[in-house]
Amino acid sequence: MKHLKNYINGNWTEGDAGSFSVNNPATGEVLAMVPKASPEQVRGAVDDAETAFRFWSKETAETRSNHLRRLYDLILENVEELGRTITLEQGKPLKEGIGEVRYGASFVQWYSEEAKRVTGEMIPASHKNKRIMVLKQPVGVVAAITPWNFPFAMITRKIAPALAAGCTVIIKPASQTPISAIKIMELVEKAGFPKGVVNLVTGDAASIGNVFLDHKKIKKITFTGSTEVGKELYRGAADTVKRISLELGGHAPFILFDDGKLFDSIQGALASKFRNCGQACISSNRFYVQQGIQAEFIEGLKIQLKSFRQGNGLTSDTDLGPLIDQRAYEKVSDHVTDALSKGAALEYRGDIPAKKPNGEGGYFYPPTILSGIGPDMKIYREETFGPVIPIIPFREEEELLTMANDSDYGLAAYVYTQDLSRALRVSEALEYGIIGLNDGAPSTAQAPFGGFKESGIDREGGHYGIEPFLETKYISIGL
Ligand code: NAD
Repeated sequence: MKHLKNYINGNWTEGDAGSFSVNNPATGEVLAMVPKASPEQVRGAVDDAETAFRFWSKETAETRSNHLRRLYDLILENVEELGRTITLEQGKPLKEGIGEVRYGASFVQWYSEEAKRVTGEMIPASHKNKRIMVLKQPVGVVAAITPWNFPFAMITRKIAPALAAGCTVIIKPASQTPISAIKIMELVEKAGFPKGVVNLVTGDAASIGNVFLDHKKIKKITFTGSTEVGKELYRGAADTVKRISLELGGHAPFILFDDGKLFDSIQGALASKFRNCGQACISSNRFYVQQGIQAEFIEGLKIQLKSFRQGNGLTSDTDLGPLIDQRAYEKVSDHVTDALSKGAALEYRGDIPAKKPNGEGGYFYPPTILSGIGPDMKIYREETFGPVIPIIPFREEEELLTMANDSDYGLAAYVYTQDLSRALRVSEALEYGIIGLNDGAPSTAQAPFGGFKESGIDREGGHYGIEPFLETKYISIGL
């Protein structure tokens, strides 16, 4: 078993508060021991990152760009190994693990270019003897807290724009999946980033989080994770008026009108629901299907699901892996049981891979389709984070919009229709930050990713994604 280390100020460091194990969710096997950083170590990392900020923020944009470009090249040279690491600690099929590495790398590439395009402006003044100059400057030391569902890409999506802007970073990855984060640090070191510019601490989430919140040298927190923890951090950031960006939970409606293309909508439903076994913030969670097309849609999904193979992600033909842990398994089971007890119908349930004779085995939940879902069921309101398709019939567009917007979340929504006017009308009316219009996979490096309502604050991706790491400074010049 491997004993892995934290990366602080360019040094590989043990945890002063001990260590914890990381398990493979497909087998239960212990993969590695990872450090528990003490609060003192985290405070030390913040001081180191602040020292590094003094010179990194003064580097030319070109130098920062070149470092990111080298990191991008190194990631591409190691795609297979990084993808395998993701599969081992997170469970997703290897082809998805590799896909995540490529997706994560695309942010490093994009921001290596964007680093050179951060500009200010001169604004015409009201007096002849005055000039108005506006500068963009990096906010300072950034704490990046990331979730387990995309253990590689959620880190690169944050650190690439932060580093491009001239910030230094301290990463706190999810405890279930810190190995991918450690692999990124190995590449950061190889890419030649100066010491202290990128740091990694692992360990107790609340104690590390509290250091981030209390420390005045942390100028910004960028968080991806649950709405519950996001709210806690939002409240905690108030005392020092820290900048905070939040990418939180979702409860995406998937909307299929009678005139939608059936084949495309089924492909879109499978992509948006079963990627990562339904454990994505933009996973479709409520399937609103117009009455005329419901039977065909369910039949089409069943045919596709029958050929889905569920199992260990490292097996070459696996389409669907396990859920991350026991808690996740219990939540999905609870949502399905609750819906069935309140009158939902079970349309489809896949086979679960057999557990080993000794009782070990992964947290596999089979693909499931439910119909007859109503607002009194948990699955209607809460993020399920599992491979379950709950179908809600609708008749008219207006009724549909009321139901689809009836959520505290506002991250992603999917719409399938061939009617152009309706497509635009519905896309504009949906209270969601990302709309997949006849598209089940909308996320890409150059586009803004983020949510309305309780799904978050700010955007990641594109030129929008670097803004949260920049302060705006106005210099009034008298001639
Ligand atoms: P989580 O909120 O439990 O954990 C996220 C991170 O926060 C982890 O690193 C965790 O260790 C840390 N954390 C937990 N408590 C903390 C505290 N008190 N202080 C500081 N840090 C703390 O979320 P999760 O279960 O890892 O991830 C799943 C959630 O993430 C889902 O709700 C999903 O929708 C959301 N998510 C959102 C996006 C997005 O871009 N909007 C992307 C991926 C996942």
